[in-house]
Amino acid sequence: MAGLMIDRVSKCFGEQQAVDSLSLDIEPGEFVALLGPSGCGKTTMLRMLAGFEALSEGEIRLGERTLASRELHVPPEQRNMAMVFQSYALWPHMSVADNVGYPLKLRRLEGDAYRRRVAQALSLVDLASHAGRSPQELSGGQRQRVALARCLVTDPDVVLLDEPLANLDRHLRAAMEQSFREFHRRTRATMIYVTHDQSEAMSLADRIAVMRGGRLEQWATPEALYRRPRSAWVASFIGQGSLLQVAAGRPGQRLDEHTLMHGLAAVASERVQPVLVRPEHVTVLPDASAQRGLRARVESVTFRGERHELHLRLASGESLVAYHHAALVEGESVELILHEGWCLEP
Ligand code: ATP
Repeated sequence: MAGLMIDRVSKCFGEQQAVDSLSLDIEPGEFVALLGPSGCGKTTMLRMLAGFEALSEGEIRLGERTLASRELHVPPEQRNMAMVFQSYALWPHMSVADNVGYPLKLRRLEGDAYRRRVAQALSLVDLASHAGRSPQELSGGQRQRVALARCLVTDPDVVLLDEPLANLDRHLRAAMEQSFREFHRRTRATMIYVTHDQSEAMSLADRIAVMRGGRLEQWATPEALYRRPRSAWVASFIGQGSLLQVAAGRPGQRLDEHTLMHGLAAVASERVQPVLVRPEHVTVLPDASAQRGLRARVESVTFRGERHELHLRLASGESLVAYHHAALVEGESVELILHEGWCLEP
């Protein structure tokens, strides 16, 4: 299998720059998420990969083969990629099996080979027993699995997915995430998954390309994005956390408890920079007279089932989010121990 190379790709619609010099080097079999807020260029990038949109600049290569550049445009049907749409795009008048087999019919495959490949694709998404049904007789999640089987039946090198879970409710999304993981494990196809939902991207992808305003903000594993975001913007987009002004360290450096506390105390006198503190790195001491940590006041408490989420105000005026096992009273004074923080670019 071949890797997919996106090399300084740009796309302009008139004055509007939808994608701005984006480069990604995707490994064969990798599960990649394109993540970012609405309008950041995710769908445009996916459509350029599929061949539905021409490039303004740059190049897309699959292994040694150039698929698109300013001069060259390989048509979608010659790229050996398959796309799954948010709307599923199933034919209502055809059975599940006929929907799945449709791309094979277009390629004039018939007989035993046709039937074998449709059966294989349906069993990969655990829908072999539903082959004769019509799409209307299926749930939203089952329809999404039919759409997956249909894209898989041609054995594509790359599967492109455009917000495939956007139409499903929260419970079904969680179940479908599991199906996607299973689908990826079984096929080992390279998958490019567009979403604006950071938790979906974090739980599914091997690596995430965080996009903003057409540009790449960060390209990293979910864990690296969470622990070592490159900018304050990425830090606030991925997971919960608080940015504090601290006089210590350099961008990308992890601060331990001692350096963090010392750096917070030194803010008035030295050059400061934002430091990201995640809620799980804060211990709340309900006794405000312990004099072991940083003084703060509880501004609000939200019950989250297994824990309470506290929004706190520090003496500096900065706010901080923390978790605590017991409910505290709004307005109450507490002390905080901050165990770790990550220095960001100022
Ligand atoms: P969403 O999550 O809302 O779908 P997105 O990140 O997928 O957003 P795109 O659909 O790629 O964003 O759009 C990126 C930018 O390009 C937007 O400002 C959009 O208005 C613009 N754009 C997209 N397609 C076209 C088009 N065919 N003509 C003109 N502008 C377009």
